[in-house]
Amino acid sequence: MTKRFSFQLNATDGKARSGVIDTPRGQIRTPAFMPVGTAATVKAMMPESVAATGADILLGNTYHLMLRPTAERIDRLGGLHKFMNWSKPILTDSGGFQVMSLASLRKLTEEGVTFKSHVDGSKHHLTPERSMEIQRLLGSDIVMCFDECPALPAERDRIADSMRLSMRWAERSRDAFGDRPGYALFGIQQGGLERDLREESAEALKAIGFEGYAIGGLAVGEGQEAMFDCLDYAPDTLPQDRPRYLMGVGKPDDIVGAVARGVDMMDCVLPSRSGRTGQVFTRRGVLNIKNARHQDDPRPLDEHCSCPACRNYSRAYLHHVFRSHEIISSMLMTWHNLQYYQDLMQAMRDAISEGRFTAWQAEFHAQREQGDIEPL
Ligand SMILES: [Zn+2]
Repeated sequence: MTKRFSFQLNATDGKARSGVIDTPRGQIRTPAFMPVGTAATVKAMMPESVAATGADILLGNTYHLMLRPTAERIDRLGGLHKFMNWSKPILTDSGGFQVMSLASLRKLTEEGVTFKSHVDGSKHHLTPERSMEIQRLLGSDIVMCFDECPALPAERDRIADSMRLSMRWAERSRDAFGDRPGYALFGIQQGGLERDLREESAEALKAIGFEGYAIGGLAVGEGQEAMFDCLDYAPDTLPQDRPRYLMGVGKPDDIVGAVARGVDMMDCVLPSRSGRTGQVFTRRGVLNIKNARHQDDPRPLDEHCSCPACRNYSRAYLHHVFRSHEIISSMLMTWHNLQYYQDLMQAMRDAISEGRFTAWQAEFHAQREQGDIEPL
C-alpha cells in the first residue's frame, strides 16, 4: 500500500475519464460516487454494508461533527475512521456550505464566519485555519478548502466578490494544512455560472497548487441545463492530472452527464435520503414504493440488482414495511439505492475503459425512458 496520495488516469473516452486515486487507506476507483455519512453514519446502513455496495470512500460533514460530538472528542476517541468503524478513505467538506445553509445568525467577515449552532444555539467561529484543524482532528483523508458559496441566482458582483474571498481562503487553507504526506487538500472552484469567473478561480487555485480540484457552487438551484452548460467548460479549466470533484451532485442522469464532461468524483444525499422516503432508483427510472400498484407485487425492485432488498424481498413486502413505518424499510431501500449508484459508477468505469461510453450512455437513457416494469 502506498504511503502517498496519488491519482492515476487509466483511460479516457471523449471527455469521460476512469482512473484510481491511491491513498494509504485504500484505492478509490474513479469515476467515484461517495455516499454521505453526515453525522458519522450513512443513515440506516452499517458501514460494512456500505462497503459491500462497492463504495471506496465516504463523505463526512465538518459542520455537523464539529457541533456534535465535536472534533476534539472524535480525536480523543481515535479519529473518525475508528469512531464510526470505517477503515476506507473519508472526505470531509469544510463546513462552509452547511454554515450557510443550516446555521442561524451568520456573520461573514474576511477572517471567517461566526454563527449559531442549529443544534443548541451555541456560538461558533469557523475560519480556514479552524476548518483545517477540525478536518485534521477528524483524520479526514481528503480535506476540502474552506470556502463560501452563494446561492444561485445571485448578482454577478456578489458571485465575483464571494469567489475572490474563497480564493484568499484557499491560500490560507493551503498554508494551514501544512505538509501531511498521505493526505490530500482539494481546492474548490467557484464563480457561479460566469465563465470568466470560473477561469479566474481555476487560475488562482492552480497557482496555489492542490492534490485535487473541486467544482463548487453548482447544484444550488440553477437546474440541470445550466449546470451542464457550466460543466461543458469548467472541468477543462482544471489540471488534467488531478482528480476533479463535483460537489453535491446528484440525480443519476446528473451524474452520468457530469462524468461525460470529465468529472471524477461526486457525492449526494439523494440515494440515502430517498431510501427513507420510499423513492427507489432503478435501471428503468424512479419508482415510489408507497404506490398501491406494488402491494400485491411479488417481484423485486430491480431484477438485475444484487442487493439484499432485491435478492430477498418483494415489492409487496417493501410496500408493506414502508407503509407500516418499519425501520427495515429504510435499511433495505437505502441499501438498494446505494447499490444502484455504485453499480452505475462501475458500469461507467467499465464503459470508459472499454471505449464504449457513448453507446453506454444511449442505453442508460433508453432504459430509463421505458419507465418502471408493467404492473401485474
Ligand atoms: Zn436492489
